[in-house]
Amino acid sequence: MTDVPPIPPIPEAVTVALAGMGIELEPGDAERLRGYLEALRAANERFNLTAITDPAEMWVRHIQDSLTLVPFLASAETKLVIDVGTGGGLPGIPLAIVMPEIRMTLLEATGKKAAFLEETVTALGITNARVVNERAETAGQDHHEHRAHYDAVVARAVAKINTLSELTVPLARDGGSILYIKGAQAEAEVAEAKQALYMLHTHVVDLHKTATGTVVVLEKTRTTPRSYPRLPGEPKRKPLH
Ligand code: SAM
Repeated sequence: MTDVPPIPPIPEAVTVALAGMGIELEPGDAERLRGYLEALRAANERFNLTAITDPAEMWVRHIQDSLTLVPFLASAETKLVIDVGTGGGLPGIPLAIVMPEIRMTLLEATGKKAAFLEETVTALGITNARVVNERAETAGQDHHEHRAHYDAVVARAVAKINTLSELTVPLARDGGSILYIKGAQAEAEVAEAKQALYMLHTHVVDLHKTATGTVVVLEKTRTTPRSYPRLPGEPKRKPLH
């Protein structure tokens, strides 16, 4: 173990930024978010979960950035949410902490990361999140458990939208939302994915700029054709076009 100082409490600037998005943390939330960053940083010494390890930057680029989705999830109809390719738990764990009214599924293909997530949700007492160690292509064809099951599907830093849409849209119910946290390339990716979004019966509702990036908001208009998602690896190897 290296001797590193603890992650400091939530910076004032982050509290202000969250308030600007209408997010008032409940007692205990900020400490659980801090505990999560501690767990993430400690696990990062064993295997790679994040390139960002500076505490102040972790608060902004992991916590604040993840929570930019809160305004889009805060509706009475949104209960079941899945985070596809959650890695070390982003954006899913911060969202589960500050939104106890949602039920979060953390979907991650890599076993080692899924094991970290299991440990972390248990250690932090996050009772509204579950971990599923599976590929999105497999979950998306699982008609009993996952396909068309979720009110909202979220993802950050997993793939370009032409690939990511095939991994995520099949998991949403008809009328459900699909939300991606993207950077400056959001608009170009949406343009490139035009045909994929059409084939998946999904349209763009909003490209919303935030202090840390861009939230791409999609709505699923109709049932996904049965052939999507294709077999594991296909959406990335040969994006829909
Ligand atoms: N979302 C996290 C974040 O923003 O820090 C992690 C991003 S990491 C670059 C991408 C993650 O997506 C990896 O942990 C990878 O294992 C996972 N992933 C990639 N393709 C996937 C798939 N088809 N199904 C499930 N997980 C996938």
